[in-house]
Amino acid sequence: MPIFVALASLLFLGVIFGPQLWVRRVMDRNGADRPDLPGTGGELARHLLDAAELTSVAVEKTDLGDHYDPNTRSVRLLPQHHDRRSITAVAIAAHEVSHAVQHAQEEPGFLRRLEATRALVWVERIASGILVLAPVVFILVRSPAVVILQVCAGISLLAIEVIVHVTTLPVEFDASFAKALPVLVRGRYLAAGDLPAARSVLKVAAYTYVTAALATLLNVMRWLRILRF
Ligand SMILES: [Zn+2]
Repeated sequence: MPIFVALASLLFLGVIFGPQLWVRRVMDRNGADRPDLPGTGGELARHLLDAAELTSVAVEKTDLGDHYDPNTRSVRLLPQHHDRRSITAVAIAAHEVSHAVQHAQEEPGFLRRLEATRALVWVERIASGILVLAPVVFILVRSPAVVILQVCAGISLLAIEVIVHVTTLPVEFDASFAKALPVLVRGRYLAAGDLPAARSVLKVAAYTYVTAALATLLNVMRWLRILRF
């Protein structure tokens, strides 16, 4: 019996953390400096936005992970993607610019996802509240059953986040493979030999939110951080 428990735990941890390790590995493997590339990720993002007549969309540096912020209409890139020339930097920049294009074109899938992720902020906050209050409830009612129910409710709410990100994957795949990749090929920003690597980065870029949401399920520190917002 203990062997089954150990196997089940390993499988569970693999499902939760495996995807995030995969994302990091692919990004690192293709993150080496490539001075032969025409520009940094930040420069390419600016160039692609201008070419798409999105001159008002800003390109900024962030430490919070690469993303497109629909509220301020900004493409934000990690310093190593904003300032360096690598296949990862170029592919990520093109992916985030594609979200700005989806927004500008008011693509229905993107707008639906925008609504869903706004609702998720509240789902996350409520889940965090429920989980953080669990020890307090235990002190007050001294009933393990109530606390277990409470923790299950919190975790179920966080699982909704994973489901929402899975259902919005088509928007991510559109950004990576219907927009970013053709732009990189057409503009000859990468040599043909670099395209398989770019394709693998674009694939993990599409899965970033799903893997992050999975990790959130076990990441109590993040629950606490969200609560402080
Ligand atoms: Zn994306």
